[in-house]
Amino acid sequence: MKYKAYAAQSPTSQLAPTHIPRRVLGTSDVAIEIMYCGVCHSDLHAARGEWPGMRYPLVPGHEIVGRVSAIGASVTKHNVGDLVGVGCMVGSCRHCDSCDEGLEQYCEGPHGWQQTYNGWLDGSGENTYGGYADGITVDEHFVLKITHPESQLAAVAPLLCAGITTWSPLRHWQAGPGKKVGIVGIGGLGHMGVKLAHAMGAHVVAFTTSPAKVQAALELGADEVVVSRNPAEMAAHAKSFDFILNTVAAPHDLDAFMSLLKRDGTMTMVGVPDSPHPSPGVANLIFQRRQLAGSLIGGIAETQEMLDFCAKHGITSDIEMIEMNEIEAAFKRMQKSDVKYRFVIDMATI
Ligand code: NAP
Ligand code: ZN
Ligand code: ZN
Repeated sequence: MKYKAYAAQSPTSQLAPTHIPRRVLGTSDVAIEIMYCGVCHSDLHAARGEWPGMRYPLVPGHEIVGRVSAIGASVTKHNVGDLVGVGCMVGSCRHCDSCDEGLEQYCEGPHGWQQTYNGWLDGSGENTYGGYADGITVDEHFVLKITHPESQLAAVAPLLCAGITTWSPLRHWQAGPGKKVGIVGIGGLGHMGVKLAHAMGAHVVAFTTSPAKVQAALELGADEVVVSRNPAEMAAHAKSFDFILNTVAAPHDLDAFMSLLKRDGTMTMVGVPDSPHPSPGVANLIFQRRQLAGSLIGGIAETQEMLDFCAKHGITSDIEMIEMNEIEAAFKRMQKSDVKYRFVIDMATI
């Protein structure tokens, strides 16, 4: 079956309309009519070939929400008509230690995990195509239930990547009451980090390079906001953080943030710039036994947990809706950090 989609044919070509095949519905598959898809900075990195190993045509999109249009014979988790979501993963080995623990994003199988677009991590097998399309077919295990009201569906889409990518490390490093948590970069991921850390009960400090986002970050739930280009504002927070989540998509000075951690504090990186950060200073680590860590999206079970938490607490993403043919303009604005805070494509416009 052919679906309408937007694809990059090469790292230098703009996204343009095309048609893509999807596999025939298998017994454990769910076919989804895509209603909205969020625009993650990863979509831009991938479409432009800023990361190694990209496969073309490349159809981005891994913040997918829509309605189930058909189910395979053995599907039990979802029914036709249900509102569902698909995030960054559509397959894994399903029987390694990580998969058994519900952490499919760290799958130790021979091919790693299967990305919603760009295929298996090791580059084997057929390419996969993401959510900038009017439909997708996915194994039921990788399809999430959405219990938010349907009127909020577009604003739920970014939870499937921006939400889980911040939820997973905030939970792992135990953000909560009595903890001082920093969120660096108030973009798609960062604004969800602020909302979630606030809802978990932490004292939240937002770090932004954009003075224009100060008031907005307070409205998202930050207790304090620091303009990170201002050394005096930074110095006021020296040695005070339990945990910092760094979502910045560009190389920058990590020491400026490492020195804000207290003894045994951790800064976890989730942003994936196309070139390395300047190497952080070792003294900054050893003198306070600080840790620099990384975290990758989140597993299926914890993604469902995050979606249910957000539905219960009325949390969605702050979005700007666009039509499919506005995607290149949206990419340009995202490169300038000019979005509050996530573009979401209305797939009825494809
Ligand atoms: P985004 O919406 O573009 O937000 C990134 C934010 O970083 C910007 O809004 C800006 O915030 C700040 N920033 C940008 N350039 C900067 C610079 N030169 N110096 C300092 N700060 C800068 O991007 P996103 O969708 O949130 O994604 C962020 C990164 O996470 C991307 O690299 C993406 O690929 C990656 N990602 C990783 C995972 C994972 O599993 N680890 C999952 C999804 C995405 P301010 O204006 O507030 O400074
Ligand atoms: Zn993403
Ligand atoms: Zn596995």
